[in-house]
Amino acid sequence: MGDRPQKGFLSVENLLTNVDLHSAHVTVDLVALKANYKTLSLAAPSTHVGVAIKGEAYGLGLAPCAKALWAAGCRHFFVARPLEGADLRSVLADANIYVLDGFYLGQAEFYLRHNLIPALASLKEAEAWKAHAGLMACAIHCDTGIHRLGFTTGEFAQLCANAELLKSLNIKLLISHLACSDEADHPLNMQQLKAFQNLRSMLTHVPASFANSSGIYLGSQFHYDIVRAGVALYGGNPLPGKTNPMKTVVTLEAKVMQLREVLAGQTIGYSATWEAPRNSRIAILGAGYRDGVPRKLSSSRHDGPAQVFLGGKRCPIVGRVSMDMMACDVTDVVVKVGDMAEIFGPNLSVDEAAGFAGTISYELLTHLGNRYARRYVE
Ligand SMILES: *Cc1c(COP(=O)(O)O)cnc(C)c1O
Repeated sequence: MGDRPQKGFLSVENLLTNVDLHSAHVTVDLVALKANYKTLSLAAPSTHVGVAIKGEAYGLGLAPCAKALWAAGCRHFFVARPLEGADLRSVLADANIYVLDGFYLGQAEFYLRHNLIPALASLKEAEAWKAHAGLMACAIHCDTGIHRLGFTTGEFAQLCANAELLKSLNIKLLISHLACSDEADHPLNMQQLKAFQNLRSMLTHVPASFANSSGIYLGSQFHYDIVRAGVALYGGNPLPGKTNPMKTVVTLEAKVMQLREVLAGQTIGYSATWEAPRNSRIAILGAGYRDGVPRKLSSSRHDGPAQVFLGGKRCPIVGRVSMDMMACDVTDVVVKVGDMAEIFGPNLSVDEAAGFAGTISYELLTHLGNRYARRYVE
């Protein structure tokens, strides 16, 4: 197991002296990432598991994750922005890279130079791609009910009826996206499936891609040729409310910078929001909202629901999360300065931490800041 510090995240002094100059650490377990890829491949055995690697692999770091996923067998990668596609191309020379943003006039040369496949989202984009990129590969993104990007059903029928346009496009993939796949019983799932089946019947020779992470678990009729897995690879639970079949990939820890005693009735932090109900021992931790710790994890006057894992136990977060630090109550645990508190990781899942803050794992992961010591476990 080689723990490789990333350039740009760990200072040179740190590497030379082995002194930890950081107050918080992010560990990304690439072994677990690859295991999760395998788990999803087994859950969708007759399809290729493509991956959503937009937003620098949901904040985990593009290059190390892309290389690990390529090694795990992934060949189809989905990014949001053309610039993300170019970054990925510099890491993976031979990958199929789809850009979900679609295609704007003037970008053709960039797409061609970096060999990117646009997910064309309208008839107009398709006409423009035909005019500027000839027979370079493209994908067609159709809307089946999420009503964000994509061809409407009417536009898609027009495309399929236009033999001349079809002939001059090199369509590699037909894409649609589910709105409610994390709610297995939501009626929109079956409505979207029917709509997608209908679209697919108009363009049968083109491979299709429909399911995201949760969509994989809706059943094999959602799998088609390529699935687009995102959050589950990175450790988020694709089955909310059920046991997470995924391994923990990301661990976020903050150092105990100071321990202090407060008397009953004294308050902690900005706006004096939390008041000690008894004489208490408080740990001050080296991560704050600049580091992507949601300020919503702040407690109210008494303990909020939010916790960290420290000294082998759950400890309530007390007071406001501020820019560079936060506090937790360690009256009942044994800790010392320099110990690391887990904000999320194997003992407190990213989904649970996100729940404390009224948000989702996606947001917690993609908001991780760049002040951490970042370690990739290979
Ligand atoms: C982000 C994204 C995905 C991946 O979604 P997860 O829920 O993270 O698995 C798949 N398809 C599209 C179009 C996306 O934007």
